[in-house]
Amino acid sequence: MTEPLVISTPQDMHAWRRQIGSDASIGFVPTMGALHEGHCHLMERARRDNEFVVASIFVNPTQFNIAEDFENYPRTMAEDVDMASTAGVSVIFAPSSADMYPDGYATYITPCQAAGPLEGERRPGHFRGVVTIVNKLLNCVQPTVAYFGKKDFQQLVVIQGMVSELNMDIRVVGVDTVREPDGLAMSSRNRRLSPADRAAATVIHRALMNAQDLFASGERETATLETTTWETLSSEARCQVEYATVCDARTFERSETVRDDSVLCVACNFGHVRLIDNVELRP
Ligand code: AMP
Repeated sequence: MTEPLVISTPQDMHAWRRQIGSDASIGFVPTMGALHEGHCHLMERARRDNEFVVASIFVNPTQFNIAEDFENYPRTMAEDVDMASTAGVSVIFAPSSADMYPDGYATYITPCQAAGPLEGERRPGHFRGVVTIVNKLLNCVQPTVAYFGKKDFQQLVVIQGMVSELNMDIRVVGVDTVREPDGLAMSSRNRRLSPADRAAATVIHRALMNAQDLFASGERETATLETTTWETLSSEARCQVEYATVCDARTFERSETVRDDSVLCVACNFGHVRLIDNVELRP
């Protein structure tokens, strides 16, 4: 496996893009680094579908609404380059904050309606930061296809909304969540869990599976599915539940009975570590 080329400025990214020509297909995987198997799964998928794979590594300050969370976000560039190389990445785009947000930077994108509920309510400004940086990265890389994980289900839909509403000529592909053997969704934040919290966090997947079983056995009352999920999560003393919500998988609006295309989304805190996960509820 050849080492990926590391590009660190938008100007150099544009130059590489011009050099490979407009006919080449490029799969793009935006990340904040601290790479794990979940990220690699996206990169391998991009590798299968395209001639070139570009992965970005940028811890985006404008999507963090708590400064401490941004400061504590893991940064592991050397290991990331090795993992990206194994996953077949051609180029790592790792711009600096000063390049992305020079002094006086003022241009932001207002996200689509799907950004309102859930994460949008709990993390004011988060999706505004996400769509702004993803738009900027897409402008630098100009990919054919961009890959996003269903682990961040609302983010995926919000990005699809931006691409559609801004008439961008890019295909957005959602990729299934990669999990640890005990069911915990892989996340860069998992490495900040204490051993006790790491063990306790398996409750998230159990709660989602319980709800899915209940749904499969015919339960269609939103409140019943949510209450059961909340109770399972709360049975673990280390788990502080923020939300356990069944909603429409396009709008994230809640209704009293479960519609065909629904998703159960949860957010919980274990100590200072906030984790999100979800399961699609399909008949
Ligand atoms: P992040 O570095 O956390 O911003 O994630 C970068 C991309 O990887 C996003 O599209 C995430 O949804 C995706 N991702 C993160 N964790 C996983 C996972 N466990 N399985 C699949 N995709 C993931």
